[in-house]
Amino acid sequence: MLRIEKQVSLQRYNTLALPSIAEYFCQVKSEHELKEALEWSKKYRLTTTVLGEGSNVVLAANIGGLVIHMAILGIEQLTPTSGSVDRPDTDCIIRAGAGENWHKLVRYSLAQGWYGLENLSLIPGLCGAAPIQNIGAYGVELSDVFYQLEAICLTTGEHVSMALEDCKFGYRESYFKGAGRDQYIIIAIQLRLSSKANPCLDYPVLKQVIAQGNQPVTPQNISDAVCRIRQSKIPDPQQTANAGSFFKNPVVTTAQAEQIKHIFPTLVSYNQDNGCQKLAAGWLIEQAGWKGIKREGVGVHPQQALVLVNHHGSAEALLSLARDIQTSVFEKFQVKLEIEPRVYQ
Ligand code: FAD
Ligand code: NAP
Repeated sequence: MLRIEKQVSLQRYNTLALPSIAEYFCQVKSEHELKEALEWSKKYRLTTTVLGEGSNVVLAANIGGLVIHMAILGIEQLTPTSGSVDRPDTDCIIRAGAGENWHKLVRYSLAQGWYGLENLSLIPGLCGAAPIQNIGAYGVELSDVFYQLEAICLTTGEHVSMALEDCKFGYRESYFKGAGRDQYIIIAIQLRLSSKANPCLDYPVLKQVIAQGNQPVTPQNISDAVCRIRQSKIPDPQQTANAGSFFKNPVVTTAQAEQIKHIFPTLVSYNQDNGCQKLAAGWLIEQAGWKGIKREGVGVHPQQALVLVNHHGSAEALLSLARDIQTSVFEKFQVKLEIEPRVYQ
């Protein structure tokens, strides 16, 4: 049964561990409970805020209205007859409830012999949030395996299905961050995986770790290698509160990248398909002198300049630090850094 609580601390519901109070809070374990929660908030004319694992949000001290924590579980393999799915025998469609842990889905699919998610191992968060920023790592993005999603449309209250083209996925981008922002609550995702391995070792660090281990290039070994690299490089929010990359890697024209390289020859950049260049935001921040800085209870991680950390600070202190970093990077390189997590103010 749906239980709505008043004045609930969200500190343990966000990986930055920011102090934040929800005016009202509930956990939904089914589509039915979600609809009940939405009707309740409509009745009292309250806003709704959806929260997964809170690993990509900056929460304000107070969040008005109803905070809905997604807890819809279930992972299943859809049979060829369970939908109008036209696919070869080697493909499988796997469906996961929005409240399932993402890495659990990765492990489950590997154990079943369904491949495609190995490079996305150990990304924090729940399955329902994965389409929001088209999660990506080590050369693979959700959109590479995405089939469709199921959501509740907040305008009509209807259960809708959205295909790949509806989601308008881009680099850490989707329709849900743009025109479709706050208009849908995702209740399940469906991914198209394959029994044929198609390894992606584009990132040199991954290739190197696999080669060092002297192991065959299997999806399981790739997943293990990704986990090892992540555990050695990326701070665990349980130890140091953070929201992963705080800024997106900026994409600039090749002409602009060349201009910067002329002055800063060690600039780290990568060719994009569209003739642009992606710059490593962590490198820009480090060059601007912010790596390891600590102030007002927040800071920049000493090994990963792209990760801002919270020691015992506030959202204001964190956002003020982020603004100062953006200003100084712009002054030095004329490049705008865009904040990646969703900021609630
Ligand atoms: P939340 O932070 O709870 O929510 C994020 C946004 O999605 C919010 O706007 C929320 O309203 C919305 N949302 C959540 N669930 C739903 C739903 N069911 N329906 C509609 N809207 C919803 N990201 C990457 O892409 N690649 C990485 O490699 C990566 N590494 C990370 C490493 C660390 C240490 C951390 C802390 C974060 C990392 N991230 C990475 C960011 C984060 O893990 C992902 O963005 C993840 O998908 C967020 O999931 P979540 O459940 O925590 O979402
Ligand atoms: P890294 O391997 O040190 O690489 C630094 C940056 O260079 C990354 O941001 C990556 O871009 C880019 N890069 C490296 N090799 C590349 C290649 N061959 N082609 C294109 N771009 C390349 O990065 P890291 O910080 O340890 O993170 C490893 C992976 O996990 C990255 O894919 C990163 O996006 C992901 N990650 C994401 C978050 C998040 O919160 N979003 C947090 C931690 C890690 P990309 O970021 O575009 O891949």
